[in-house]
Amino acid sequence: MASLGESGTHNRKIPPRARIARFVETWLGAPINLLEASLQWVLVRPTRWMMRHLDAASYALEGTLLRKILSHTIFPFTILLSLFIGFKLVENGITSLTLLGFVLLPIIFGLYCAPLERLMPYSRNWLEGGNDTAVDIIMYFSGAFWSGISKLIVSALFIVGMVEALEPYGHDLWPTHWNPIVQVFLFILIKDFFRYWFHRALHEIPALWRVHAAHHSVERLYWLNGIRAHPLEIVSQAIFYAIPLALVQPTAEIALVAVILQLSIGIFQHSNIDLNLGWWEYVFSIGDNHRYHHYPDKGVGDSNYGGEFIIWDILFGTFHNPRNERPHDRIGIGTAPEYPMTVMGLYLAPFLPSQKVFGPKPADADKAATEELIEDAPLQPAE
Ligand SMILES: [Zn+2]
Ligand SMILES: [Zn+2]
Repeated sequence: MASLGESGTHNRKIPPRARIARFVETWLGAPINLLEASLQWVLVRPTRWMMRHLDAASYALEGTLLRKILSHTIFPFTILLSLFIGFKLVENGITSLTLLGFVLLPIIFGLYCAPLERLMPYSRNWLEGGNDTAVDIIMYFSGAFWSGISKLIVSALFIVGMVEALEPYGHDLWPTHWNPIVQVFLFILIKDFFRYWFHRALHEIPALWRVHAAHHSVERLYWLNGIRAHPLEIVSQAIFYAIPLALVQPTAEIALVAVILQLSIGIFQHSNIDLNLGWWEYVFSIGDNHRYHHYPDKGVGDSNYGGEFIIWDILFGTFHNPRNERPHDRIGIGTAPEYPMTVMGLYLAPFLPSQKVFGPKPADADKAATEELIEDAPLQPAE
């Protein structure tokens, strides 16, 4: 993985062959590029320097009983803890303390997951990714911004009127008398049914794949980059969800606990912690399920679409997780090794008329074609 590790401190830009897009990325994107570089120096590099101090402990932990116990218990423990914290936060209704807890949550998750990734990594090649964390931090705020814009777009499309009309029916339909924990899981399960079909469409319809490619451009998996999504994906998903989810209306407290639980399951979807998940991988879309989803070969990667649950994949025949196999760590988009990795590049990429510009560099493509010819050539008898 030449682009990962200590040496790759700059994010790959749009290939110079796409001259106009490259120009826009460099000059219109200058403030964002500057922000990326600043975050690298202020946050990413110092954090990595600190994290490297855990490496000795990480090697010492390899093969120990403690690591084995941790690999079995971290996931269920975190899920139980998230439920506990979630219900505590809404104990007295939704207050300013609830909202503060909610805002602090990503930082808490980071402080919890990043050291664990360093101590017991699934792949040591995924420990450092150039300056991708700076991009993911910006994409996190970009995601929040575009989620807000989506609400305005839903109103502008007059969908909001329909949603408001349907919501009372949604409240009536919702089983408020059920156990609150069951309500939380039911809410996520229903939401995930729509995520499954939306995500499957993103992979199977070429125009939508262009947009979703931003998520699949990542070359390593770690706790934060699950949030990397193109604004068009965020907005179109919000429009797609608006009507059906108007009929799924739990109380605000249940919805909030569900979001906290979704966040923690989401962390384990991209996390680089080496866990022994066992049968949890037949319930949730985590661990190896999602590593296969990020395979560069779409033949394998077009699988495991679930956002939180994997149940819909099992039901609709897109589950891929062969027993006794450990997924490799060479992930990305097989047909687009030159896909940009800057924030501006990720924003612009779907709009380029031809996506072939992200394919192998001409020299590499020639080499690959020659190798293919040699491999295909019939064996000649020795003279
Ligand atoms: Zn995907
Ligand atoms: Zn992913």
